[in-house]
Amino acid sequence: MTAPQAFDPLAPAHPTRVAVVGTGAVGSTFAFGLLLSGLASEIVLSDANERKAEGEAMDLMHAVPFARTARVWAGPISDCRGAAVTVIAAGAAQKPGETRMDLVAKNAAIFRELVPQVAEANPDGIILVATNPVDVLAYLTYRISGLPAERVIGSGTILDTARFRMLLADHYDVDPRSVHAHIAGEHGDSEVPVWSSANIAGMPIGDFATAAGMAHDDEDLREIFENTRDAAYQIIERKGATYYAVAAGLVRIVQAILRDQKTVLSVSSLIGDYYGIDDVYLSLPTVVGRRGVERTLRLGLSAEEASGLGCTAGVRREATEAIRTRAPA
Ligand code: NAD
Repeated sequence: MTAPQAFDPLAPAHPTRVAVVGTGAVGSTFAFGLLLSGLASEIVLSDANERKAEGEAMDLMHAVPFARTARVWAGPISDCRGAAVTVIAAGAAQKPGETRMDLVAKNAAIFRELVPQVAEANPDGIILVATNPVDVLAYLTYRISGLPAERVIGSGTILDTARFRMLLADHYDVDPRSVHAHIAGEHGDSEVPVWSSANIAGMPIGDFATAAGMAHDDEDLREIFENTRDAAYQIIERKGATYYAVAAGLVRIVQAILRDQKTVLSVSSLIGDYYGIDDVYLSLPTVVGRRGVERTLRLGLSAEEASGLGCTAGVRREATEAIRTRAPA
């Protein structure tokens, strides 16, 4: 790690601005989590529905006396200017029975309108994409924003990885923070559980189970992964949308960026030259810091995992090609 710069008490203070574009369920829940975290001193909300953004900003401002000091306002996209991070959560969400890929055409059209405005207002910031299908839209954002790839991040499988760790923790009766396991590939139906490096406090899961006198059953593991992969469908069927966990994941990514934590998180970034995968946005464990994507970790995979990742890359590539043919490069 490089040494921090010397503190200059006379240097002008720079407020830490975070912009949120799209203040529906995901964007506004993220803004609330961000406000409670105290990470940002300025939070600007932008939405095609200006009244909605205004209402969210007012409601959030009224939480400030219970939370942390911050300025919250609704504004045009040009207010992304100077934001350290702009989170984009604008666009259509899945309805019951819809896949994330069903949203691609509608949301790609919205991104073609939005992203150039964000990049023009804020060429030096980081864009964090949450809208689905997140890997395809993060790739599109990278292509049309002109920003370097390390400053365009998709929330990717940060949510799936949290679900995976939580379900494993529940099964093995440990704190999810002691479970280290990743979902790689697309945030979607072809995602890949990386069992080969999954561990609980450094012990391979089978060894942990044996030491704890617990059964270690492949059928249980398969069910844990299926519940991870299908969690969004299960939640949307019950309550119509998912937003708390993804919002918490977005806050975690923003924290790693603003505090230059160099935390390893499963997020989506431009992957090249990896098990035959090239020029596609997918999730791998990634070091995230002030520059955005600092490094992707090239996990050694089992043959089955590598083949699964090849399939997930194929799915992404097809969707990406479909929008790329229409995207100005
Ligand atoms: P929502 O319908 O509640 O909100 C979407 C918002 O986008 C609305 O307020 C709408 O006015 C706004 N919007 C639409 N077009 C716009 C434009 N051109 N400019 C600015 N704002 C615009 O949806 P939601 O539940 O908040 O979901 C938002 C997106 O996040 C969806 O694509 C959803 O699938 C995705 N999502 C991603 C994850 C993840 O893990 N990445 C998890 C949950 C949801």
